[in-house]
Amino acid sequence: MAEKIKTVSKHRGYFMSVRRWVDSWSGLDDVKDIEAAKVDWVRSIPLVLVHAMCFGVIWVGWSWTAVTIAVALYGVRMFGITGGYHRYFAHRTYKTSRWFQCALAILGASAATRGPLWWAGHHRHHHRFSDQPQDLHSPVQDGFLWSHMGWVTSRTNFLPDLKSIGDFAKFPELRFIDRYDVLIPFSLAVSMFILGTVLEAVAPGLGTTGPQLLIWGFFISTTVLIHGTCTINSLAHQFGSKRYQTDDQSRNNWFLAIVSLGEGWHNNHHYYPAAARQGFYWWEIDLSYYALIAMSWLGLVWDVRNVPEHVRESGRIDVEEAAA
Ligand SMILES: [Zn+2]
Ligand SMILES: [Zn+2]
Repeated sequence: MAEKIKTVSKHRGYFMSVRRWVDSWSGLDDVKDIEAAKVDWVRSIPLVLVHAMCFGVIWVGWSWTAVTIAVALYGVRMFGITGGYHRYFAHRTYKTSRWFQCALAILGASAATRGPLWWAGHHRHHHRFSDQPQDLHSPVQDGFLWSHMGWVTSRTNFLPDLKSIGDFAKFPELRFIDRYDVLIPFSLAVSMFILGTVLEAVAPGLGTTGPQLLIWGFFISTTVLIHGTCTINSLAHQFGSKRYQTDDQSRNNWFLAIVSLGEGWHNNHHYYPAAARQGFYWWEIDLSYYALIAMSWLGLVWDVRNVPEHVRESGRIDVEEAAA
């Protein structure tokens, strides 16, 4: 791909941005965008619309049914990102079957933060260059806004880095999900509308409707989910405590660990990314890890890697400072 690099003309750039609403790999074979890193607003129109649709709550109101479904879909899909995209595809911290691997990819894609190959490939890059100038989303290098949403909406970072994720890019089903990732959140949105319409007809006592479930179950849940995920790139490299001496600004933050089902123990994770577990001690709540353990009991996943005790106890700067 590198040999074929050429600059994208303005009109071809707009055309490609629109095509990428549906085909995330558009331009993968012939163009590597090399323009300065900046937000691709045309490509980002669907993302802006997802945010704008949250205002629909003014017209559809709320119900306990809609709020409960929104919260449940936040939790399940956050697991898709943390337990699937992050701990499986990016770091291979446990093993699973091919069909469950595909299920994890679909669940992760339903979070509307792109496909598994794009996500995990870029994340491996983040671990190679954490908070260095090459890091694509470092708040230390480029500020909060860029690390939170800027990098993910820029043309330069839009295409997947398939070289970084060659071990999974060989699976055709994962390539399809990564290329047409938008189909999955779109299907979820349609499903929410249908479910709400059916519930209104068969169980009016639940007080929900098609439009209400669409706004809560998809748009509000997804918007909060996107920002909850992005806080790990932005806030978890700035706010919290540092237990281990790592070459980056990663932090442990209990609040972010709740929001992100365990990812807030980010300094632990940067210190030892090979573990499926990010809360290293029993008091560090890590819901994704508990879910993985439960899945291992069911035989869905296996070889779930813990952090070895000697690794966990060595290099603790809080202990060294207390002893000094
Ligand atoms: Zn990080
Ligand atoms: Zn990681």
